[in-house]
Amino acid sequence: MIKRLMPSCREVSEKVLVGELFNAPLLQRGLLRLHLMLCEHCRRFSRQLEMISKTVEEIARPQLDPRVVKAAKRRILEHLKPK
Ligand SMILES: [Zn+2]
Repeated sequence: MIKRLMPSCREVSEKVLVGELFNAPLLQRGLLRLHLMLCEHCRRFSRQLEMISKTVEEIARPQLDPRVVKAAKRRILEHLKPK
């Protein structure tokens, strides 16, 4: 039962990518979090994503306006998207 409700790694990583992890409906959010707790791959993926996005911000913030930073982040995330 719980296995069928549980989102797949692919679904989780897509949600993490588009930043929907915290905007998803309550039940879905709970399942996503549960998956992240149980799945080392997705945990690592979301950690790396966070690190990348922080790094981009730190490098780019002093010189660039937020729109450019956002575009750069989106480009990087596009590359990371599961095919
Ligand atoms: Zn997973």
